[in-house]
Amino acid sequence: MHIEVRNLNKNFGDFHAVKDVSFEIEKGHLIGLLGPSGGGKTSILRMLAGLETPSSGDIIFHGKRVNDLPPQERGIGFVFQNYALFKHMTVYDNIAFGLKVKKQSKEQIRERVMYLVELTGLKGFEHRYAHQLSGGQRQRVAFARALAPEPQLLLLDEPFAAIDAKIRTELRTWLKDMIERVGITSIFVTHDQEEAIEVADEIMIISKGKLEQKGSPWDIYKNPETPFVASFIGESTIVDNIGKLKGFEDAGSRPGTKALIRPEYIEIGKPGEIRLASATLPGKVKHLHFRGSEWMVELLVGDTKLITYRSLEKEVLHPGDQVSVLVHRAYLFNDNESWIAENK
Ligand code: ATP
Repeated sequence: MHIEVRNLNKNFGDFHAVKDVSFEIEKGHLIGLLGPSGGGKTSILRMLAGLETPSSGDIIFHGKRVNDLPPQERGIGFVFQNYALFKHMTVYDNIAFGLKVKKQSKEQIRERVMYLVELTGLKGFEHRYAHQLSGGQRQRVAFARALAPEPQLLLLDEPFAAIDAKIRTELRTWLKDMIERVGITSIFVTHDQEEAIEVADEIMIISKGKLEQKGSPWDIYKNPETPFVASFIGESTIVDNIGKLKGFEDAGSRPGTKALIRPEYIEIGKPGEIRLASATLPGKVKHLHFRGSEWMVELLVGDTKLITYRSLEKEVLHPGDQVSVLVHRAYLFNDNESWIAENK
């Protein structure tokens, strides 16, 4: 289903929770609504579902305005964080629930449920109850149940939040694959950037009720349009006194400029080790954190703190070591504009 949202607003009393949000979603896309807690993600999802009435704005499904349509007539499937399975029903009956409501025949129901049981890898579990399933399995039942009545849009509110870390990673890949196979337009809410990056075709970054940016995970990472997006997606250090860094003197001459520097744009080496020696800065290793596949290095360049990574093949550094530092690229922002500066 193609979705269009125009100038969507939601007020709760005096509180403006969703501010003039507009976007379009292509049919079959998987969208991640990402942002800090309280930003308005769930409110947007609930308005799409018809569980919350917009204060103003239009919600358009397939070219038709659905603002006044009740939830059950919007062709939507839901998956919530807390499974919300019917505890007194088996897996089979949970999945069949929406089909029984639609008064489908026993044979039709059986065919659809068995298809979904197969699709979601739940074969053999049809007669179990929720308490006899793992968290991951329960969430798959919730997914199958939501898909059973063949909705046009699937809404998932923090679908992995209640599941432990290892299974969560597996479920993410599983969900992405499943949604691609079914080809259903889907929107999921998360506050976990890694999850959004890994799962979504497109991410919408929501903060303080506003849509900050919409784009592919890669695009958002590479070309953040606001300081908030740049600092929310990916790791970075924020530097107030960028003008002090060699190669960025011009950038720092504009008033109020802040710089955001990603770890992968910082090169470090023993003094003399870096190719572009003219632009290197003397730095000192402050802390080292072992991360399994690499070292995270906290550096001090003058009084500026930077973070980068160093691969295990390289000679190990120690706190207090003098190093040369080369910053290749920085995102620069002030109140009026944002731009990228490079040290070539
Ligand atoms: P979280 O990740 O914590 O769920 P969120 O981004 O989904 O956050 P929302 O749940 O949409 O954010 O809430 C946005 C803001 O609106 C919050 O400040 C919340 O307190 C407020 N809010 C949400 N629902 C109501 C309500 N029914 N009445 C009053 N305020 C509400």
